[in-house]
Amino acid sequence: MDYEATLLMSEFVTHDVKRFVLSRPDGFSFTPGEGVELTIDEPGWRDAARPFTPTSLTEDRVVEFTIKAYPHEGVTQKLHGLNPGAALRLSKPFGTIRHRGPGIFIAGGAGITPFIAILRDLARRGKLAGHGLIFSNKTPADIICEKEFRHDLGDRCRFVCTATAAPGCEHRRIDEAYLRETVDDFGQNFYVCGPPGFLEAVTAALKGLGADPQALVFER
Ligand SMILES: Cc1cc2nc3c(=O)[nH]c(=O)nc-3n(C[C@H](O)[C@H](O)[C@H](O)COP(=O)(O)OP(=O)(O)OC[C@H]3O[C@@H](n4cnc5c(N)ncnc54)[C@H](O)[C@@H]3O)c2cc1C
Repeated sequence: MDYEATLLMSEFVTHDVKRFVLSRPDGFSFTPGEGVELTIDEPGWRDAARPFTPTSLTEDRVVEFTIKAYPHEGVTQKLHGLNPGAALRLSKPFGTIRHRGPGIFIAGGAGITPFIAILRDLARRGKLAGHGLIFSNKTPADIICEKEFRHDLGDRCRFVCTATAAPGCEHRRIDEAYLRETVDDFGQNFYVCGPPGFLEAVTAALKGLGADPQALVFER
């Protein structure tokens, strides 16, 4: 089963990430962190479904996506060029990362999107206590929703930039040494999402520090 939606507006969140606001199809609901297959309902694009994560609140009357454009002529670049009124289709949501209780979210780049959905839901319900975020990007200009995370999590969020040094952003990689310095309890939940290389490196480092592999939630 899939759903028809209309693009209502889009705006830049960073230099290559846009926020898309869609009409909410009747009967469409999701659990924060779930993904959907999104299709542009135009000739030539209907067979090109791609997975994205709703970042709106489950009770919002619209559906929001936060999408990074790749520079080649793929679906994300096409999405970034769409005008309001464009027709889109959404699949039934499917499970990716599910919240299982307080812990630390560790994201690389656009891998933050399931955590945006989960953290917004926790913030709305006043349940952010015990949660932290470590968010890795190449440069400060790539950080999605930085102000929102700083507001909601305060000193429980850390930003790491691998390519440049900047105020408020540590010029580091998330490796075993970094995690040992910044995390005090490896028995808690860890939620990791990002590109495959990032995911492998971070989960290997966490396991090396004694984190319970059951507590590591991978993007599938
Ligand atoms: C469950 C899930 C949820 C996701 N949620 C989100 C989300 O909320 N927001 C988000 O931004 N992303 C999300 N993603 C990632 C998103 O699905 C991909 O970015 C998207 O599918 C890319 O589509 P595309 O057609 O633009 O690129 P594709 O053509 O599918 O290409 C994908 C990959 O191939 C490379 N590539 C292919 N062709 C070229 C070329 N000619 N030149 C250069 N590079 C090339 C790209 O760099 C990229 O690594 C999610 C992924 C999954 C699995």
